[in-house]
Amino acid sequence: MKAMFLDRDGTINHDDHGYIKSLTGFRLFDFTATAIKIFNELDYKTIVVSNQAGVAKGFYTIPEVDAVNRYMCEQLEKENAFLDMILYSPYHPEGSVPPYNVPHISRKPLPGMFFTALHTFPIKASLSYMIGDKDTDIEFGKKVGLTTILVKTGNGADTWNNRKSCKVMPDFVVENLLSAAILIKTHLQTK
Ligand SMILES: [Mg+2]
Repeated sequence: MKAMFLDRDGTINHDDHGYIKSLTGFRLFDFTATAIKIFNELDYKTIVVSNQAGVAKGFYTIPEVDAVNRYMCEQLEKENAFLDMILYSPYHPEGSVPPYNVPHISRKPLPGMFFTALHTFPIKASLSYMIGDKDTDIEFGKKVGLTTILVKTGNGADTWNNRKSCKVMPDFVVENLLSAAILIKTHLQTK
């Protein structure tokens, strides 16, 4: 089984202020549904893997993250684009809210969310991708053998400009999630 692992903030939706605290702060990019529809049509399990350290830091709560994620799904489903699974890590070692103020294997770049997805889907990493806007997304993907794509939306342009300080390089760099979907559809599908 093949899967598309997607970062959320800066990859699927605008990330203007660093933390998405409420539904009003959540805006999909206008190309996101089109991109996710392509992944659905190509039979990739489409799985969101998102760091949400704002929970550990007390900026918002687990129910608020869940509400934003539900809203994201509703917005996408209106355009016939579907997510198969949404995973997120509420942890951060410098947070203030127990029990989330600790290091945790689910926090990217550590690979915990990949292994959580494996409990549900028998995913073959060599057929699968990680798409995100930060070096931690690329590191996460590389650790578990996914092909990695950096998008220049969100923090992606900064990530690319500062790539000398990154531990690992992405396999591909593209403008946005739709460019990634088109690249995969037209050039990489033979994998
Ligand atoms: Mg991001």
